[in-house]
Amino acid sequence: MRKFLALICVALLAACQDTDFGERLVNADSETQNWLTHGRTYDEQRFSPLNGISDANVGELKLAWFHDFDTQRGQEATPIVIDGMMYTTSAWSKVQAFDAASGELLWQHDPEVPGETAVNACCDVVNRGVAVWNDKVYVASLDGRLIALNAQTGEEVWSTLTVDPDKAYTITGAPRVIKGKVLIGNGGGEYGVRGYFGAYDAETGEEVWRFYTVPGEPGKKDGAASDEILEKLAGPTWTGEHWKHGGGGTVWDSMAYDPELDLLYVGTGNGSPWNPAVRSPEGGDNLFLSSILALRPDTGEYVWHYQQVPGDQWDYTATQQMILAELPIEGEERKVIMQAPKNGFFYILDRETGELLSAEPFAPVNWATKVDLDTGRPEINPDAFYHKTGKPWLAMPGPLGAHSWHSMSYSQQTGLVYIPAQELGFPYIADTNFEPKKVGINLGIDLDAASLPEDAEVLKAIKAGVKGHLLAWDPVQQKEAWRFQHATAGNGGVLSTAGNLVFQGDAEANFNAFNARTGEKLWSFPAQTNIIAAPISYAIDGKQYVTIVVGWGGIYPLLTGEAGLNTKMRPPKGRVLTFALDGEATLPPEQELQAMIVEPPAQFGTAAMIAQGKSIYHRSCSGCHGDSVVSGGILPDLRNSGMLASKDAWKSIVHDGALATNGMVGFGDDYSPEELDTVRAYAIDRASKR
Ligand code: CA
Repeated sequence: MRKFLALICVALLAACQDTDFGERLVNADSETQNWLTHGRTYDEQRFSPLNGISDANVGELKLAWFHDFDTQRGQEATPIVIDGMMYTTSAWSKVQAFDAASGELLWQHDPEVPGETAVNACCDVVNRGVAVWNDKVYVASLDGRLIALNAQTGEEVWSTLTVDPDKAYTITGAPRVIKGKVLIGNGGGEYGVRGYFGAYDAETGEEVWRFYTVPGEPGKKDGAASDEILEKLAGPTWTGEHWKHGGGGTVWDSMAYDPELDLLYVGTGNGSPWNPAVRSPEGGDNLFLSSILALRPDTGEYVWHYQQVPGDQWDYTATQQMILAELPIEGEERKVIMQAPKNGFFYILDRETGELLSAEPFAPVNWATKVDLDTGRPEINPDAFYHKTGKPWLAMPGPLGAHSWHSMSYSQQTGLVYIPAQELGFPYIADTNFEPKKVGINLGIDLDAASLPEDAEVLKAIKAGVKGHLLAWDPVQQKEAWRFQHATAGNGGVLSTAGNLVFQGDAEANFNAFNARTGEKLWSFPAQTNIIAAPISYAIDGKQYVTIVVGWGGIYPLLTGEAGLNTKMRPPKGRVLTFALDGEATLPPEQELQAMIVEPPAQFGTAAMIAQGKSIYHRSCSGCHGDSVVSGGILPDLRNSGMLASKDAWKSIVHDGALATNGMVGFGDDYSPEELDTVRAYAIDRASKR
């Protein structure tokens, strides 16, 4: 019955509330039972005012229902809940609709993303969720389509290709809808794309405006909302033939909206390629990389910007979540944006003007000593300019950031921001022989030289330095209130609630609840799979639920592999888990991971071939199959590949692309069969050293 009520409700929305849905989103905080948009409200605080589940009773929280996905890759979605219906996504941009009370699957939609797209996704084939507006659900697919679905049936209403399919754009972020326009950007900052984002008519899918975040070829206009400001402000901050390398600045995740000021905020990504000696050889700030931009949502008109990392060369994106709030700063109530981006500083800006109010490190930072509040610029450690020094730069944080896309949360009750923080360093080493490849990533960094050492003791020491914690941060004092230390990095997003609770999943397969004021762990559920996504909360008939999408993946396990992780390997399992105080569901028994070791064939390669294979592997393969041929358990561990014994079988896959539809494209455009066969020699070498 509830299902039909929910469907009628959706139908009525279309008929009766057509003009009111914008009002509902503006006032989303007052709909305590719902989670209407990605960050619950336009200010993206991810705080639920529900308090039925509280620090007093959370120990009684039990599983109410669960749903198994048909895809086991990384799961990063935040579900939307509206009037008893839940909409979420899974890997490969698949969309599901549930009865939010019972967990009954009402419909699902598979946009049938071509497997080959995976090679253009730096960080797994993930999706971070949908948006809803009136009677439609919007998903952006990995291959760059913005798709509107009928909220009742899941049938496609329209689909707009938002990217040039000949370039390596992907979309993993969740759309937002503002005043009848669907906002979405894209990713590809590791693949030589030029960043932009756009607004699309929610009814028709037609592009309303587009804003490029970095300049194209000088003298050529795009006919976009960004034309004037790029020419005036951004263009002069680039040098060389930057447009040939794309430039980056992709808007791959974070957006926020202030309806009162009518300002849309977006965060922009890193420079592409990372190494500025390639991208902009004579230097320059390279606007608008690593910046927060404020624009008019109706037109894309530029209002202000703040650049965090001028001339970024460390993949220090400003695409991390932005939270809007009112804070007392030096005794004065200010409308602020808060952001804890990859680079390790916690920024507070006046969101009306873009003025920097404060920036203090929330994690160990060595690339800059401070941020000058007068100029807004960081005081950068000269040793960090690896392209100038010619020396490796052992950076903290590294490109995975002190905090990445994993959602944080702000509680007005405690005044604290809860951040999934981590300590993950990285050695940046310039690739002085850099040549862009046609397939896969192009960073201008020598990833082979930066790969993990074989020496067991050194590796052990590196692993010991990899840390993660839930950080409660007081933004007014700019200091830590408490932390809960996790076993490792790569932990999940955060929800805070009026029940004095903070919920977070971790990389040890636990879904946890903490006392929001003290950090005491009050409850934990064995989720059987590691968690990276963020929880939500909602209510139906007065009963509060908490939902989390679980599933291990994303860049951390893919790239660092088992060698870089301090966590137990588990079979990947993509699921939705929903909890309530009177829950009665149980998960099936956890499957044990079958430790598989296939004896490698005899080594055929010379030491020189193995060294060449190691270099090619870390240039083009390690981002998915793991540093040093040690898989993180998501994609095949090549040390166990049945293809290692056969030169021809190896060539058919690695060179010719026999498994392209599975996501393993051929690299024949960049390497000869002989070159790629050296990777086979290297994989055999690694397999024989287990
Ligand atoms: Ca990046």
